[in-house]
Amino acid sequence: MARINEDYRKLKAGYLFPEIGRRVTKFCADNPQAKVIRLGIGDVTEALPPAIVAAWHKAVDEMGVRSSFRGYGPEQGYDFLRNTIAAKDFASRGAPIEADEIFISDGSKCDTGNILEIFGNDNKVAIADPVYPVYVDTNVMAGRTGAADEQGRYAGLVYIPTNAENQFVPPVPTEHVDLIYLCFPNNPTGTVATREQLTKWVEYARAHKSVILFDAAYEAFITDPSIPHSIYEIPGAREVAIEFRSFSKTAGFTGVRCAYTVVPKSLVGSTSTGEQVPLHGLWNRRHTTKFNGVSYPVQRAAEAAYSEEGQRQVRELIAFYLANARLIREGLEKIGVQVFGGVNAPYVWVKTPGRETSWEFFDRLLREAHLVGTPGSGFGASGEGYFRLSAFNSRENVEEAVRRFQKVVGH
Ligand SMILES: *Cc1c(COP(=O)(O)O)cnc(C)c1O
Repeated sequence: MARINEDYRKLKAGYLFPEIGRRVTKFCADNPQAKVIRLGIGDVTEALPPAIVAAWHKAVDEMGVRSSFRGYGPEQGYDFLRNTIAAKDFASRGAPIEADEIFISDGSKCDTGNILEIFGNDNKVAIADPVYPVYVDTNVMAGRTGAADEQGRYAGLVYIPTNAENQFVPPVPTEHVDLIYLCFPNNPTGTVATREQLTKWVEYARAHKSVILFDAAYEAFITDPSIPHSIYEIPGAREVAIEFRSFSKTAGFTGVRCAYTVVPKSLVGSTSTGEQVPLHGLWNRRHTTKFNGVSYPVQRAAEAAYSEEGQRQVRELIAFYLANARLIREGLEKIGVQVFGGVNAPYVWVKTPGRETSWEFFDRLLREAHLVGTPGSGFGASGEGYFRLSAFNSRENVEEAVRRFQKVVGH
């Protein structure tokens, strides 16, 4: 009989979003008249910007004419998109990234998981806690961990707790680690790292010859002009960091699928005998062997997000979600609830009032306010006692959600 990859069996059964789904489905079945508002899963809700839709249509029409039809494109992405990204996302911010260091893909979720293939299995991996669950689970699947304890912490991973005391920015560890996941603006806490904080990480990575896996999926939500948008704005980061970017949250592409990963050519890893090997070549090999490129129309749609019109429309979209985040933040602060994030990110990280656990608070909010959020403990042991609310919803629903929250939680 075929043997399975038993590392998969280490994954915790009641994974966060299915468990939320189960509880919400049961509540709705028992209370069919309840009008439940979901501020839970991080998915965008508003329509694609018209400039993007127009570019997508136009490219589809090109595919329908023999003379402009395209089959397989370059696996790494078309030059028109890679060049635009290099100019608009990096050169314009003083970050030294070349077009051929950018790999276009169909999502950052896959990229952050797949990147593990080019690293050996004996690396020590550091993860902030709470964290985007994909980083943890893909390490478990890859066999880099032992079993999970009752709190859900896997043996072999280095967890760096983030909390109100460190402003939800992980401090550099006192021990040696080889791979470090950083995500800013952060999901789930909605917080950002300053230039000084990122500089400390780059210095740590340079000293320890570690690699930072920097997830900047929410980069477009940064409103504070002093906050770096890319890790490559920090001097020396080209030698120590891989960056993940996605059009999902920035341009509403969660259902369209386009993202990219930056692997600088100056970034190296070592073999067991100490030979230094550029990671760019390894990732290029992995990407071109196992991936056949993002569809041409979708890459044209992504390119349109950078046109003058596209930029204006994308900024409007982001401003809309950020205004939602502000309504949530201010509405909760008004009744004395402690909140974090929501200024440079579409997430508000809420301290659960009183002594309730994250799941107790989840159940109460669902039962009494018909509101769905995400229990902080689902993102890691250190998320216990917190709750994530997402700004991805209609204005009407956000306003109604805040009113209900105030009524149920306010005194
Ligand atoms: C949504 C999200 C992504 C984007 O994933 P895609 O696969 O590109 O849709 C990446 N990282 C984090 C932390 C996210 O929340």
